Amino acid sequence: MIQTLTHFFLEQATYGQVYLATFVYFLGLYFVVGAVFLAVCKWLQTKGWVSQIVPNTTPNKNIGFEIKHSIKSIFVFGFSGIAIVYLIRMGIIKLLPDTFLNVLMGVFFLTLWNEVYFYIIHRIMHFPFFYRRVHKIHHQSKIPTIYSVYSFHWLEALLLSGVPITICPVFNFSAMAIFLYPLASILLNFAGHCNYRFGHGTGASWQLFGTRHSQHHFRNTQNYGFATHFFDWLMSSNKKNNSL
Ligand SMILES: [Zn+2]
Ligand SMILES: [Zn+2]
Repeated sequence: MIQTLTHFFLEQATYGQVYLATFVYFLGLYFVVGAVFLAVCKWLQTKGWVSQIVPNTTPNKNIGFEIKHSIKSIFVFGFSGIAIVYLIRMGIIKLLPDTFLNVLMGVFFLTLWNEVYFYIIHRIMHFPFFYRRVHKIHHQSKIPTIYSVYSFHWLEALLLSGVPITICPVFNFSAMAIFLYPLASILLNFAGHCNYRFGHGTGASWQLFGTRHSQHHFRNTQNYGFATHFFDWLMSSNKKNNSL
């Protein structure tokens, strides 16, 4: 079944079908996986395992703004599917077999590459020229929600959709790794935007995962990294404590 679908999209589907499939895939990640993620956060909160970073009820008006811009971003993400399939058909992207190890390592290395790629793009987005014209939309969410994850200006959505396209022609990945990478990415993204963290703002670094990006939204500066603070540490752009 999976092999038939892979074969269809890589060899037979029209680019219109590829666009539509990519669009629906991202829509599902955003709405379906997002709803499950939020439900799990709320359930963990009732168990006392997680707490809200900022006790908050974000107005529906703001969530409406986030959803509207996220859908626009998903329209843009659709084109990344076309670009990847085109480069595979041209032989510029070469694929590894879908073995368990290739899929696991592939998702891991794409996620690692995203740390570098995202940090660079995000720092550029904070140059005053780009902040005022582009990145400001993402920072409308002063206290982020799971619906903030794709709330971008179309140009930022286009740049951020370039993670696989910029690495796959250089290093070989399996088709399933490229397909599953957006799922891994959005889970990390939800964790950074959901306004929940383990415990009550103290404890080991991994327990404070959601804190860093929430601080970035609240303060509009520092903590530019995606899932880790490695590049913030390297470039001295990290915030030193856990308070907003
Ligand atoms: Zn954000
Ligand atoms: Zn930012």
